[in-house]
Amino acid sequence: MKVYLSNVICVDGKDWKVVCDSTNSKFYPLIFYSHAHSDHIPRKIPSTEIITSSTTEMLVKHFASSFEGASFFQEYSMNGTSFVQKPSGHIVGSTALVINSSEGKLVYTGDVSIRDKGFLEPFKPEKCDTLIIESTFGSPNYEFPNYSQIISETKEEIRKYLEDDIPVVLMGYPLGKAQMLYHAFSDLTDLNIMHESNFKINNLLLSRNIKGSIPAISYQNAEEKKILEEKKNWILYAPLRSGRNEFNMYMRNKYDAKLFAFSGWCISSNYKFRMNVDHGIPISDHADFSELIEICEKCDPDSIYTIYGSNIKFAAELQRRGFNAYPLSKQTILESYFHKDKARS
Ligand SMILES: [Zn+2]
Repeated sequence: MKVYLSNVICVDGKDWKVVCDSTNSKFYPLIFYSHAHSDHIPRKIPSTEIITSSTTEMLVKHFASSFEGASFFQEYSMNGTSFVQKPSGHIVGSTALVINSSEGKLVYTGDVSIRDKGFLEPFKPEKCDTLIIESTFGSPNYEFPNYSQIISETKEEIRKYLEDDIPVVLMGYPLGKAQMLYHAFSDLTDLNIMHESNFKINNLLLSRNIKGSIPAISYQNAEEKKILEEKKNWILYAPLRSGRNEFNMYMRNKYDAKLFAFSGWCISSNYKFRMNVDHGIPISDHADFSELIEICEKCDPDSIYTIYGSNIKFAAELQRRGFNAYPLSKQTILESYFHKDKARS
């Protein structure tokens, strides 16, 4: 089995090949899409065999301009090698890929989280020979606070605003972060209102009864019916944008709304000021540094390849801790071969 980067992340076995999270529309015989974030899927889905979860398939079909020739599989096997998906805990529908072959066992995490957020099954690390792991927050300065504690503190702040008839705008990416916010805060009011981009994705998930979706009113509908003026104890969910953004300035000027930004990057102290928001809450759908280390320790692999974000720094940290780790970057093509005695069927 070898792992290398050639525009896309490739894993080659003796008689099979799979590419992971290819963002171009080029044909490959077998593609795995870990989740439906735009930096993990192409606009045009190639006519080929695709391993992905049913939720990601639905989202991919929603976002893609074409997908007609594609065949989707939730499980896949070829020449005695099995390709199995496991929850990766990142966003709705996200999965890691576990490849079991006579050449060994490989785990590709995609974007990953082991935190329990209450509506998503967290990633469960498992022993493997090779681990390909994301490293978005793979630097020791990225440590997030306890999830349930920061959620309950933030919930109190929001509750106080709503009790004083001050509405709030909760901002996070409409796919991923938004579902975390709905799950955590929607019981604070009967007036859960969504910006159009949140509303569309929420409706899609709600139509399939997927956890993390909630009944909500669209912002357009709320404006037309003057709901926002009648009552002030509403929550508006919107994409993450600066307080200087025209829409956010309007929300502040017209409704005295307070702006909350939810992002892992809020752990850097100047983020809140840079974003010109009232509150910056450091929660993320990615693992922080300690969690990435924990995943590596529990998987206990012979080789680790780091991808995305701080991948060079994270590989160096792993090497310092005695792991055989390499950054899988565009400049480097690395190959890994399993030892015969490590082979499993
Ligand atoms: Zn992602």
